[in-house]
Amino acid sequence: MAKIVDNGTTVAFYSPEQAWVIGSVTAYDVKNKTYTCSSKDPPVVMDKLPGSTVKLWAPRVEYLEEDVHDLLQLTELHEASLLFCLKKRYLRNIVYTNIGPIVVALNPFNYEIPWYKDEKMHEYLSEGVVIERNLPHSWAVAHNTFWEMRENKQNQTVLISGESGAGKTEAAKIVAKYLGAVSTLTGTDAQKDAMQAVNKKILASSPILESFGNAKTVRNDNSSRFGKFAKMQFDRDGFLVGCHVTKYLLEKSRIITSSQNERVYHSFYQLAQGEAGKKFGIRNVKIYKALSAGGCTSIDGVDDAQDFLTTQQAMIDVGINDEERNSIFRIVAGILYLQNLEFTETEERTGKVARIDANLHTAVTRASELWEVSEERLVAELTSNTIVTRNEVTLKLLSRVQAQDMRDSVSKSTYDWLFNWLVEKINRTTDVEQKCQQWIGLLDIFGFEDFKINSFEQLCINSANENLQNHYNWHIFTEDMRECKEEGIDTTAVQFVDNKGCLDLLMTKNGIFSLLDEECARSGTEKNFLNVLNEKFGGTKQKSGDPYFGQALGKAMDNCFKIKHYAAEVQYVVDGFMDKNRDTLKENMKKVLKDSGNVFMASLVPALEDPNARPAAKLTVSGYFIRQLQELMGVITATNPHWIRCIKPHPNKLPLNFHGSGVMSQLRSAGVLDTVKVRKAGYPIRFANELFLRRYAILLTATHESSARAKIESIFKNQSIERSIGQLGKTKVFLRQEAFSKLNHAKDEAT
Ligand code: ADP
Ligand code: MG
Repeated sequence: MAKIVDNGTTVAFYSPEQAWVIGSVTAYDVKNKTYTCSSKDPPVVMDKLPGSTVKLWAPRVEYLEEDVHDLLQLTELHEASLLFCLKKRYLRNIVYTNIGPIVVALNPFNYEIPWYKDEKMHEYLSEGVVIERNLPHSWAVAHNTFWEMRENKQNQTVLISGESGAGKTEAAKIVAKYLGAVSTLTGTDAQKDAMQAVNKKILASSPILESFGNAKTVRNDNSSRFGKFAKMQFDRDGFLVGCHVTKYLLEKSRIITSSQNERVYHSFYQLAQGEAGKKFGIRNVKIYKALSAGGCTSIDGVDDAQDFLTTQQAMIDVGINDEERNSIFRIVAGILYLQNLEFTETEERTGKVARIDANLHTAVTRASELWEVSEERLVAELTSNTIVTRNEVTLKLLSRVQAQDMRDSVSKSTYDWLFNWLVEKINRTTDVEQKCQQWIGLLDIFGFEDFKINSFEQLCINSANENLQNHYNWHIFTEDMRECKEEGIDTTAVQFVDNKGCLDLLMTKNGIFSLLDEECARSGTEKNFLNVLNEKFGGTKQKSGDPYFGQALGKAMDNCFKIKHYAAEVQYVVDGFMDKNRDTLKENMKKVLKDSGNVFMASLVPALEDPNARPAAKLTVSGYFIRQLQELMGVITATNPHWIRCIKPHPNKLPLNFHGSGVMSQLRSAGVLDTVKVRKAGYPIRFANELFLRRYAILLTATHESSARAKIESIFKNQSIERSIGQLGKTKVFLRQEAFSKLNHAKDEAT
C-alpha cells in the first residue's frame, strides 16, 4: 500500500497472533512509512506496520462482508479476505468451503451439527438441490468423484491432507461411506446384498488398522501413525466390488515408547485390558514400561476393553481365523514383556558388557514362551554379536546401550512385520483387482510437519508433501490456463508457481536422500553426511548454493541443515538419520525368530540372506519410501484428482474455537495460498461480461456502442487498461489487480 491513508480508514492488518484482523488506521509515520492500526474485536493494537502488512479495504468495505461458497469468487483475492470468510463461516458451523478446485474442511470437533449429520447424506445422494447449488462438503467431493468416474470412465483420486488432528481420517471415512452408499442406489436385491457384504469387509479394515496403527498423541487422541492409500474398486456398472490398501511408513518408535501424555499404539492397551491380556498374564497396565512411558494409560471417553472386542470382531469380519488372532495377540503381548527387560552392565577386560537384570529375567522368559522361540538364543542375540571374518568367528559382547537398542529393534521389526501382514490380509479379503474396472483412490497421508525438532521421519513426510504439492500446482495451473485459453486469453506473461527445484534437491540421483544412502552404504557418519550436504548444496564466497538448501547457524551448525519447502523453511537434525534409514535387524536375530515353533511368527520374518550368495543391496527405508512415493505419484497423475484440505481451527480440540495465525499457516502449508498465487500470477479477477458492464456502466462515455464487447472495449480504452493487465475473453473479463484498482478508482471518482 503506497499511499497515505486517513486515520479511521478500515484496513485489514497483520498481527502475529491473529494473522489478519479487521481494524482501522490510527496513525501514520510519514518518515518511516509505517502504520499504527487497531481493532476492537479481538482487541489488538499494532505499531510500526510496514505497508505490506496493511491492506486497505475502504472504500470497498462491503467486500469484507462477502460470504461465498468458493473463496476464489471473492472480489478481492487476498489472504485476509480468505481468512475472514473462513472464520465467519466456521463460527456459524459451516465448516466446508471451496477454494477453486479444493475443498477446505475445518474440523468442527462436533458430530451434532444438524446439517452434517448422516441422515442428511441422502440430499447429496439423490443429486438434488444440494449438488446443483454446489454446497461444499466432503459428500459433494465424493459425489462428483463417483459421477466423474462413471461418466468419463476415468479413475479418480481424493487427496486428503492436513496436519495431525485436522480431520483427514474422518474425512476419508465420510467419503468412503458416501461411495458405499452411492454405489448401492441402484441394482437388484442380490447385487445390493453382495455390495453390502463387500462394504462390511471394507469398513472392518478401519478398526483393525486403527488399533494397530493409531495412537493417542497430544494433537489427536486417535492419531494415525501411517499413511494410507485406499483404492475403492468398482465394476463396470459402478457397483462397489472391493478395496485395496497401501500403507506408508508406520511410525516405529511408537511401538516401544511415547512422549509425555501420549500412548503407544492402541492395540497394546486393548490387549492388556481385553480378555486376551488376562490369558497371557497381563493384569496391571502400569507395570509395563511401554504402556506407561507417556504417563497416560487411558483416554477420556475410550474403553480399551470394549475396543478390544471391536477389533477382534473386525478381524473375524475380514477372515482372520482363531489361530491367526491368537498368534497376533501373542506377538503383541511378547513385545510388552520384552520391553520390560532391562540390562545391567559390568566393566570387563574387553570393555562394558551388558547382562540381563536378574530381577527381570522373567520378562525374557515370558517373551520367548509367547513367541515360541529359544530363550537361550534370544538372550545370546540380545547381548552379543557374532562377527564373521574370512577365517574366524568371534563373539562381541554388547554394552548396555547396544543391548537396549537390540531389544527395541526386535520389538519394532516384529510389530512392523505384523502390521504389514494385517494390511496384506485385509487386501487378500477385499482386493478384487480382476473384477475392478474403475477405482477411486483415497489418500489419507500425513500433512506437512514442522516441529521444534525435525528428524528423518519429517524429511520423508515433507518430501511426500512436496511431491503432492508439485502435482497440485501443475494441475491447477494447467486448469487455470485451460480456462484462459478457452476464453482466448493470452497467457504468455503468466509464471508457474513451481517447487521442482526443491524436489530435485531431495529426490534426484544426487539429491539428499541418495547422499544419505551412499553414506549408509559406506558405513559413514551423520557428521560426514552433513558435511557432504553443506559442501554440495551450501553457498560459499565462490559459489552460490542450492536455493532450496540452507546451512544451519550457530550451535545447530554441527548437526542440522535446512530446507526451504513450499510451505516453510524447516530445520532438520541429522542425529539418528543413519540408523533410521538403515533400520535392519541383524540376520542372526531374524533367524531366532524364523525358527519359532509358532508357524505364524516364523512366516512373518522376511527371507534370510543366503550366506553363500553375494549380499544383495538392501533397500533403505528412504529408498523404499521414495520408490513407493514415485509409484503413488505415477498412479495419482494418471487419475482425475480432487482435493480435501483439512484444517485444525484451534489446538484446543473444541468446537467453535478459531485461531487466526494457526489457520493461516495451515492454509499456507496446504498450498491453498498457492492457488491464490497462481490466480494472481494470471488474471485473478474475473467477471462475466454482463456483470462487468453492470458494475462499471458509469464509466461508459460514448453511448453508440451496441454489443457488450464493444462497450467493454471502450471502457478499457478510456481507462487505459493495457492488454498486460486486462483482457476480454469470450464470456468473461480477465483483470489483474492493477486494472481492477484502476477501474474502482475511476468508478469512485465518477460517483
Ligand atoms: P487426522 O486424521 O487428520 O489426524 P482425525 O480424522 O483423526 O484427524 O480427527 C481428529 C478428531 O477430530 C476426531 O477424532 C474427531 O474427534 C474430530 N473430528 C474430525 N473430523 C470430524 C468431523 N467431520 N466431525 C466431527 N468431529 C470430527
Ligand atoms: Mg488420521
